[in-house]
Amino acid sequence: PPLNQYEVIDPQSQQLQQQQQQQQQVLKRSVRDYQFGQKIGEGSYSSVYSAVDIHNGKTFAIKVLSKQYIVKEDKIKYVNIEKTTLHRLGLQHPGIVQLYYTFQDEASLFFVLDFAEYGELLSIIRKFGSLSEAVSKFYMCQIVDAVRFIHSKGVIHRDLKPENILVAHDFSLKITDFGAAKLLGSNDDPNDEAIDYNSINGGSTRDPTPSNQDRKGSFVGTAEYVSPELLKHNICGFESDVWAIGCILFQFFNGVPAFKGETEYLTFEKIINVDYNFPTNIAYPPDVIQLVKKMLVADPAGRLTIPQIMSDNWFNGVPWDDVNYIWYRKVP
Ligand code: ATP
Repeated sequence: PPLNQYEVIDPQSQQLQQQQQQQQQVLKRSVRDYQFGQKIGEGSYSSVYSAVDIHNGKTFAIKVLSKQYIVKEDKIKYVNIEKTTLHRLGLQHPGIVQLYYTFQDEASLFFVLDFAEYGELLSIIRKFGSLSEAVSKFYMCQIVDAVRFIHSKGVIHRDLKPENILVAHDFSLKITDFGAAKLLGSNDDPNDEAIDYNSINGGSTRDPTPSNQDRKGSFVGTAEYVSPELLKHNICGFESDVWAIGCILFQFFNGVPAFKGETEYLTFEKIINVDYNFPTNIAYPPDVIQLVKKMLVADPAGRLTIPQIMSDNWFNGVPWDDVNYIWYRKVP
């Protein structure tokens, strides 16, 4: 199917896209345009609030980042990558959390994002313990479709995991947290609207331009989804996202990740040795076992590609071109 299908599939969305782009050019947003509600989450260098746009009553999630903290903790590069990536992927696909506006005041940066009402996919897995085959397939179709789109835009996510997949009000998924992403064909340059880090009181004179140093090997959160090639050779390609998808599919059925040691080191050891088992007390459908096995292959060249996943047995009959089916209807 054409990779740009989402740009043409819904005439309204194209119109909406144009409107939003025009609006963004005309209007400069600020905190005064939103009524801030509850804090809905916290990251290592950000807090996320629900907020209502006072002009149209719509609810958004606003991610607030402290400039001082970002500079102090040397996170400028990741913030810029996240923003640049979301702009590159913006307003084209239902499976990506959309970034509508960015603005700043003296102390903070603000990202106005789609509000995902049900939070992280991880909390849904935890709540139910595991997912049924039908729900697993419904979500896997969305993840595969969204990752296909991300890859088609020359972006490798590099940190796919159930914490970074959010669930919207209609149970459609939204992939988020592009702070670790790799943008091909770019030097990861921050985009046009530069962040003024020097406005910080007592501000640093550090150059906000990202260095060439990669985030490779630095794990802020959980390490269970990292690929063997990253651990062994410090390389990370499109295939690494497929590895993570394999880990996530495994987790849908039994609730816990495929690779989980008592320490991070032991987890890495398991990953390198592809040391995991399908628990016998879980009724994994045979097609799922085969699919996971073909994704969790140590050699990235031997791993399934996204198109191969889409034509795998388990997805037989899935109408990948039907956006409404993939995103808004349950698989029977
Ligand atoms: P870290 O930076 O440590 O990797 P993170 O990426 O999860 O953490 P944030 O992006 O600030 O950090 O998100 C913090 C939490 O806020 C998330 O775990 C999620 O529960 C919630 N959250 C983030 N974005 C949204 C959103 N668009 N809609 C609803 N909830 C969100």
